[in-house]
Amino acid sequence: MARILIVEDETLLAETVAFNLREEGYKADIAGDGASAIDLLRREKPDAVLLDIMLPGIDGLEVCKLIRRESDVPVIMLTAKSREVDKVVGLEVGADDYVTKPFGMMELIARVRAALRRSRCSVRPADVLQGHGLELDTARHTVRVHGIEAGLRPKEFELLHILMANRGRVMERSLLLDRVWGENEYIDAGTVDVHIRRLREKVEENPSKPARILTVRGVGYKFAE
Ligand code: CA
Repeated sequence: MARILIVEDETLLAETVAFNLREEGYKADIAGDGASAIDLLRREKPDAVLLDIMLPGIDGLEVCKLIRRESDVPVIMLTAKSREVDKVVGLEVGADDYVTKPFGMMELIARVRAALRRSRCSVRPADVLQGHGLELDTARHTVRVHGIEAGLRPKEFELLHILMANRGRVMERSLLLDRVWGENEYIDAGTVDVHIRRLREKVEENPSKPARILTVRGVGYKFAE
C-alpha cells in the first residue's frame, strides 16, 4: 500500500485530501509545515509527496529543495492559479508535477497514481547496492540487514555507501574523512574509526569480528568481496 505525505497548513483541505486518498486505498500522513514534512519524510518514507507552496515558515519551494537533498520521492506541488510563476520554479527545484488550486479530488488522485507509476518504472537497479546480506538503497537512504532496517545515521550511511560502492577496494581513512566530512579542520582520522565502530554495531552480526566491513591495518577499511 503506497504512503502519501500531504504537506498543507489548511487543515480542512489536508484532511479532505487525506480522506479521499484513504478511500482509494492509500495511506496518508499530514504535515502542517516544512519542518514536520521533513521529519515525516525521514520517518515514514512516503512513496509520494503532495506539497503546498504557501506554507508558514519555510515555503513549499524550499521544502522541495530540502526533500531533493535526500530523496527521489515524487513531489506534486499544489499551486494557486494566480501564481503561474510557482509552477516553473517548482519544477526547477525538483517537483515532478503540479496541480492548480482549486482542484478536484479525481484529478488529484489521478496525478498521484501517475506519479507513483512513473517512479516505480524509474527504479534503477544501480540505486540498490547489495552484499553479504546488506541492502543499501541510495534513493531511499535506507540500509537493511537481512531485510531489517538498520537505522543508520547520515554519516554512517555515507561511509557504508562509499565502502559498498567500492567493494573489495581499500578505502584510506583520509579519503573517507575527506569524502564524508569534507574539509573540516576540527575532525581527525580517529572520527572515521569511531563511526566505523558504530556502523559495525548496526550492520555486523558480531561487531568485534566483522565479516562485512574489514579493517586493513594501517591503511583504512574495505567492504568484503
Ligand atoms: Ca497553504
